Amino acid sequence: MRRCVETVIVGAGHAGLALSWALTEAGREHVLLERGRVGERWRSARWDSLALLTPNWANRLPGDPPPADPDAFEDRAGFVARLDAYARSFDAPVLEHTPVTSVERHEVGFRVRTEGADLFAANVVVATGWCDVPAIPAAAAGVPDGVAHLHTAAYRNPAQLAPGGVLVVGAGATGQQLAYELAAAGRDVTLASGKHSRAVRRYRGRDTWAWMRDLGILDDEQRHPRRPPEASLPLDGRGGGRDLDLGVLQRLGVRLAGRVERFDDHGRAHFDAGLPERVEDAERRFRRLLERIDRHVAEHALRLPAAPAIPPVRVDALPRALDLRAEGIGTVLWATGYRRHHPWLRVPVAPVGGDIVHERGLTAVPGLYVLGMQWQTRRISHQIGGVGPDALAIADHIVSAGAVPTRLRRAA
Ligand SMILES: Cc1cc2nc3c(=O)[nH]c(=O)nc-3n(C[C@H](O)[C@H](O)[C@H](O)COP(=O)(O)OP(=O)(O)OC[C@H]3O[C@@H](n4cnc5c(N)ncnc54)[C@H](O)[C@@H]3O)c2cc1C
Repeated sequence: MRRCVETVIVGAGHAGLALSWALTEAGREHVLLERGRVGERWRSARWDSLALLTPNWANRLPGDPPPADPDAFEDRAGFVARLDAYARSFDAPVLEHTPVTSVERHEVGFRVRTEGADLFAANVVVATGWCDVPAIPAAAAGVPDGVAHLHTAAYRNPAQLAPGGVLVVGAGATGQQLAYELAAAGRDVTLASGKHSRAVRRYRGRDTWAWMRDLGILDDEQRHPRRPPEASLPLDGRGGGRDLDLGVLQRLGVRLAGRVERFDDHGRAHFDAGLPERVEDAERRFRRLLERIDRHVAEHALRLPAAPAIPPVRVDALPRALDLRAEGIGTVLWATGYRRHHPWLRVPVAPVGGDIVHERGLTAVPGLYVLGMQWQTRRISHQIGGVGPDALAIADHIVSAGAVPTRLRRAA
């Protein structure tokens, strides 16, 4: 099958759908190609008990009505259902189970190949996600025989794991949430932590996400290009939103360790010695945020509860090496994040580590866009509530670029 369409959107997660909404509003022809189903990542690459860490008010997509319960946290199944309903609400032209196998330049546009069809398009928007493919460190090659290992994208629930203890590697929001879940399920958990952050769910009666909005942090556009990536805030939406940090985890029995450096030939995991400094660094950044909030409360004379005393996180007696089998550790769980990977994109716009080079979503190749990247325009551009303005801007760009050239229509 050969067909010409003005715009192809690759991926029907929240980003692709938000753009589809904007193009539908503008009356512009487009199609979304999705290798799985709408919201596939939330169906197949997230664990069973996941609840969004952002409250409902923060998760609105363009055209979404206000949520019934703005301060609640939606669970995974609820969010999948909401994405389905969103797509249906404007009859989004999604072709499900249609993986894109290549995108290449063609005449004045692009040729997009899928298993069943060739599409010719004036515009292609890559919306395949900031959290695209698992990033697993090279050290994984040394995990001893007899110890299972998997990335969190493949983790569903504690019962799925081999019997015994679990070494969770990575203390971002995912690593801390899963260390909590596994320890609460009775597993012996060791959490290996590199750079991480500290947060509380609520402070002075308000959710931390709401404070970050009020302080302008969510809409921050000022990322310095050479600033290293920030550690995600360990916020947890489960149980209506609860506190989570290394202190909470230690009280639950989780053993802390530094960053995994390597596994040796005797089945031992080796950890670096830098965790105490990193805990202090997380504490400093956390206290700076609380001070900003306190200043904001004072400047605006807000009548809110007084600042509570929050004890610092303390760590001591950290292991530098652990014999995994002797410790009864049956699984290593890589909570080490994601990277972008577009082997099907045969247009030279992604030279560095898989990340597409772009300026506010526009690549150097006219008609080729990317959407849903962290810091695309703002700190929360990759998040559910952050994609709307970027989707509208790309839709405007597509509209002002004009109709599909006749030469491309003829190619189909
Ligand atoms: C564990 C976890 C929890 C998160 N929790 C929150 C949260 O609480 N709040 C929040 O705001 N953000 C959260 N995020 C961040 C972000 O919102 C999600 O990563 C979200 O899935 C990104 O949406 P997206 O549409 O950009 O990409 P995705 O949801 O990843 O959608 C991309 C789509 O592209 C499809 N695709 C990929 N390759 C192809 C191809 N070749 N052909 C066709 N289709 C393809 C995929 O199947 C997928 O459906 C979380 C991220 C993770 C990893």
